Amino acid sequence: MNIHEYQAKELLARFGVPVPAGHPAMSVEEAVAAAEKLPGPLWVVKSQIHAGGRGKGRFKELGPDAKGGVRLAHSIDEVRGHAAEMLGNTLVTVQTGAEGKQVQRLYVTDGVDIEKEFYLALLVDRSTGRIAIVASTEGGVDIEGVAHDTPDKIHTLTIDPATGLMPHHGRAVAAALELDGDLAKQAAKILAKLYEAFLGTDASQIEINPLAITGDGSLMVLDAKIGFDSNAEFRHGDLEQLRDISEEDPMEVEASKHDLAYIKLDGNIGCMVNGAGLAMATMDIIKLNGAEPANFCDVGGGASKEKVTAAFKIILSDPSVKGILVNIFGGIMRCDIIADGIVAAARETDLKVPLVVRLEGTNVREGKDILAKSGLPIVAADDLGDAAKKIVAEVKVAA
Ligand code: GDP
Ligand code: MG
Repeated sequence: MNIHEYQAKELLARFGVPVPAGHPAMSVEEAVAAAEKLPGPLWVVKSQIHAGGRGKGRFKELGPDAKGGVRLAHSIDEVRGHAAEMLGNTLVTVQTGAEGKQVQRLYVTDGVDIEKEFYLALLVDRSTGRIAIVASTEGGVDIEGVAHDTPDKIHTLTIDPATGLMPHHGRAVAAALELDGDLAKQAAKILAKLYEAFLGTDASQIEINPLAITGDGSLMVLDAKIGFDSNAEFRHGDLEQLRDISEEDPMEVEASKHDLAYIKLDGNIGCMVNGAGLAMATMDIIKLNGAEPANFCDVGGGASKEKVTAAFKIILSDPSVKGILVNIFGGIMRCDIIADGIVAAARETDLKVPLVVRLEGTNVREGKDILAKSGLPIVAADDLGDAAKKIVAEVKVAA
């Protein structure tokens, strides 16, 4: 789960991380009221979307010459003008894709003078199984470019879970950021608080870009992005309220209600599979046969009839789906129960696209029997290769 910048900063502030004062706003009036609560003379009006690169992003409706999604304002009137231009419009950044994201919330913050911008992140490093710290002197709006062109400017160190964060980590980060004296101490302190926040919220990623040296010589977090480990969500009921469903794919939201792992892809063959490995293999073999999967939908090991029906509905609600391939191995589940679910779902959803089913495992004969006797135009397949060939051929005929 991801959250907005303003939520991330409020959360980090609770752990003692220094952030500029600010207030979220859902309307122009709220943005003006937020600005009036801050001292000025500089304000920052920031689009709140679940994507980075906002500063360099451009609004679809305003054209390339208008300013981006993070703007400085020198008066309350300017705050009003920026808010009016940003709210409701579509911000396109390197991270949103070409379709962009509609800005529904703003964050109005105290503007600070920036002397220097750093990059500092904590994330789970899968290769070492540890939390990694990533630090760079080249913070700001183009960290991806730095990583690509001058990777030696990005320093990575990992934290041994047995010892946790040690003072030497703080010194190493200060050195990586080329800081000494009081600023080095501040960097170590901020790192310790970020680490505490990371563990305390079961985060998967905390990214600070920029961490800035301000005009008065202190370090401050000016932009923060936090992602949480969804497997630990049950431990953090309070974080659930930070979820902004409008930032998530509606079909993925519906799928999560039914405990289905669903990810939308670009092709036209819908896949219903049990088990992530089988899902991968199914997508591979569709591609091998010259077509593209429309989604990744894993109904899991203990799929019920209701779950199969929900999965069908979600797959069918995607207009790009021109055919469905069901590839299920009945290990824990029995094939006859799955077949019942498929038949019920096909009837209930008034299936109009070709459906190829490959069943294997316990009670496979009974399962195939149920499909054959259903009177529905279900194409049975013998194995995975056969299933992929058949669905690709069916979709080609239909097109
Ligand atoms: P992003 O583009 O989505 O990463 O949004 P950021 O919040 O990082 O803002 C982009 C850039 O705007 C930053 O890298 C800063 O250069 C600038 N910026 C953000 N806040 C302030 C501020 O308080 N004062 C000044 N002078 N610049 C700011
Ligand atoms: Mg940023």
